[in-house]
Amino acid sequence: MDKLNLILKSIISALPFIIIVLIFIFYRSVYLMKKRNTGLKDWLLKENRKEMVRLFAIEGKRCPDCGTVFAENCPIQKCRKCGYELMKTQEESDAYLNFMHRRYVWQVVPVCVFLSFFPIVGFIGGLVYLRYAVIVPFAQYLPFVKRFKTTWSLRLLVVSLGIFQIVPGFGAISVPLVAYVKYWFVSSAYLEVLENKRKELKVG
Ligand SMILES: [Zn+2]
Repeated sequence: MDKLNLILKSIISALPFIIIVLIFIFYRSVYLMKKRNTGLKDWLLKENRKEMVRLFAIEGKRCPDCGTVFAENCPIQKCRKCGYELMKTQEESDAYLNFMHRRYVWQVVPVCVFLSFFPIVGFIGGLVYLRYAVIVPFAQYLPFVKRFKTTWSLRLLVVSLGIFQIVPGFGAISVPLVAYVKYWFVSSAYLEVLENKRKELKVG
């Protein structure tokens, strides 16, 4: 009974933080979808099966047409087997970013909020989970130096945010906050490399 009370109390004290995080995510999503010319409703509800299979292939670093593994650490490249040009169009990169953002909202946020109720274990579990859910899908397409810089600056940030785990109540947002920071860092690094490469290709 005491334990249940304690859990209930920690949930209630964490509630304001969780609500703030959720509102922030909502506004951020509205902004991102506007920027990518995708309606918020379309992004929330539209799920094209065929497109999903292709996006999962890209996430696994495989060609969406023939399944061959992409060899280069770059967002834009050609398939060695069938010549498919990955991320040639704005539509494809937008679809991939939207696909990841949907995962972040529907999967990563609930998992992280849940994990944040378990101090330390939840934090460590959260880091492992995040790596596969949001880091690798972007990081695998980054050139070595960029990847190294991004992951190390992230590590330093995470360590400083991890300290908040000790403060009661604040623990509830530390995992979702780390999740957001990681997702935001690695996806912007990805987008930066992608846009530079596009400019290079246009000039050359
Ligand atoms: Zn191919």
